[in-house]
Amino acid sequence: MALIVQKYGGTSVGSVERIQAVAQRVYKTVKAGNSLVVVVSAMGKTTDGLVKLANEISPNPNRREMDMLLSTGEQVTIALLSMALQELGQPAISMTGAQVGIVTEAEHSRARILHIETSRLTRHIKAGKVVVVAGFQGISSTGEMEITTLGRGGSDTSAVALAAALQANFCEIYTDVPGILTTDPRLVPEAQLMDAITCNEMLELASLGAKVLHPRAVEIARNYGVPLVVRSSWTDDPGTWVTSAKSQGRSLINLEIARPVDAVEFDTDQAKVALLRVPDKPGVAARLFGEIARQKVDVDLIIQSIHEGNSNDIAFTVMTPILKRAEAVAAAIAPALRSPSNPKSDEAEVMIENNIAKVSIAGAGMIGRPGVAAKMFATLAEAGVNIQMISTSEVKVSCVVDAAECDRAVTALSKAFEIEAEENGAGTGGCKDTERVFDNFYVSPRLPISASPTPPVRGVALDLNQARLAIRQLPDRPGMAAKLFGLLAQHNISVDMIIQSQRCRVIDGIPRRDIAFTVSRMDGENAKQLLTQVAAELGWGEVVLDSAIAKVSIVGTAMVGQPGVAAKMFEALAQQQINIQMIATSEIKISCVVAQDQGVKALQAIHSAFGLAGTEKFVVPA
Ligand code: ASP
Ligand code: MG
Repeated sequence: MALIVQKYGGTSVGSVERIQAVAQRVYKTVKAGNSLVVVVSAMGKTTDGLVKLANEISPNPNRREMDMLLSTGEQVTIALLSMALQELGQPAISMTGAQVGIVTEAEHSRARILHIETSRLTRHIKAGKVVVVAGFQGISSTGEMEITTLGRGGSDTSAVALAAALQANFCEIYTDVPGILTTDPRLVPEAQLMDAITCNEMLELASLGAKVLHPRAVEIARNYGVPLVVRSSWTDDPGTWVTSAKSQGRSLINLEIARPVDAVEFDTDQAKVALLRVPDKPGVAARLFGEIARQKVDVDLIIQSIHEGNSNDIAFTVMTPILKRAEAVAAAIAPALRSPSNPKSDEAEVMIENNIAKVSIAGAGMIGRPGVAAKMFATLAEAGVNIQMISTSEVKVSCVVDAAECDRAVTALSKAFEIEAEENGAGTGGCKDTERVFDNFYVSPRLPISASPTPPVRGVALDLNQARLAIRQLPDRPGMAAKLFGLLAQHNISVDMIIQSQRCRVIDGIPRRDIAFTVSRMDGENAKQLLTQVAAELGWGEVVLDSAIAKVSIVGTAMVGQPGVAAKMFEALAQQQINIQMIATSEIKISCVVAQDQGVKALQAIHSAFGLAGTEKFVVPA
């Protein structure tokens, strides 16, 4: 007999008939010998309707009253579902977040869960009842016992947190899609349903998966090792398992991490190879990394920044023992890549840097929180550490620094982000982060164990809502990135990909580099104006904005240690004559910026290059 938490989303409980259908499923699950806690959303588009009502009264309603209002949606559903269960002869009881004791911060409209009282729940479960809990809401612990909500889409988070607190066997999220797909089926009808995906992959695919599963829920599942499955309410199909390593017995107090970063990781065993002034045209990255893959050289970080004129710099890191091989490949291929406009440039175009370390901060809490990257840069600046390379993904910021400064960087970052030594895996050095990235799959009894090895790429995401900004000629010294991104954070502008160029130019006696990054498109103009003003004051170079970009990303845990994955992605783009404007990577993700009008074509080409396309077309439910 298992203890299961089931969560039903808005469409699944959108009418009386649907609530009755949910009751049937719950009833069947109980009859099969399980105990059940059911978490529900508000019916259909109720929450949107409530928001609209509030906005008819005030353009800027009081946040406390807003929570009071929005929390009513779920309360309707819990009562109706309990009644439907009782009609079937199944004992059931409905409870609000406050009645359960889902205790949150006193932060209206985006409260995080601190802990969950389980005694009342357990008592009712033991008495043979199904407990139906209102999702998305909680109660503040301090003073006034205020009703809080967790932020839109928050019932997923309620469900997984309850599963963690109750140490349920697993948590099922019922929704109107059959599970997690390899990409957006509206753009690629050949998208396929996945049997399983790891929490880390799911978090990196936030822009693809967030509509199906709240990233905060995924983070709780990962931290507490809660087996999670996303399934359709309309069928008995198995859906997609979202897997994580078995939990290390983490404390259930401060359940949702209030801090945005949950690990500081480092790797001192890295070396950097940079190719300067390669032509800015389709196929260059494909050729370079194609050759590197043929030589079985596994690359870790890759960055390509934009640059003046028609040339780019591409840099990558490898493990020190294979540096010689990587260097040889780069040196052999560099002449062939040399810009035709500058064929006889005899400056050294391959640059090697042996004594480097990669330092990263990781955590899902940084999604949508401007200022996390800025804080990392500021912390490094205060510690006097210069940043040589920056590469970011959805849930990670990595900086390449001088190896001699690694310890200082890690100590400063652990302190700044309040990470204790045992938590961050920073011990004797080496590549602890790689260990962390490899999930030990939790194999649930219902998870089909496929005979084939995990493919290196699980999902492909396209983001068409970004703009790219670049600042030329920023002085290359500690504190510059901190200043730049600190400023953006102060203005509440979230930054996504960040890349720092490799080429260093001395102007007015100061070595300078370019930094490029992407922001959400609606922030583009604003950011440009802000930065243009600052650049003038500080003697930085030009600020360039391009709003017509698209970001395509591939994600997969199994790409770690597999040469050739990047090459395949770049090759797919080259075959379509698509130029890559920027590249940034984390261990399990590679993102490219391309021209906006080529975004969909890029997505389709990459999705099929990795063999993700199925034979059956996916029909998007209306
Ligand atoms: N009803 C809330 C919303 O629409 C919470 C949820 O459904 O997850 O955001
Ligand atoms: Mg939802």
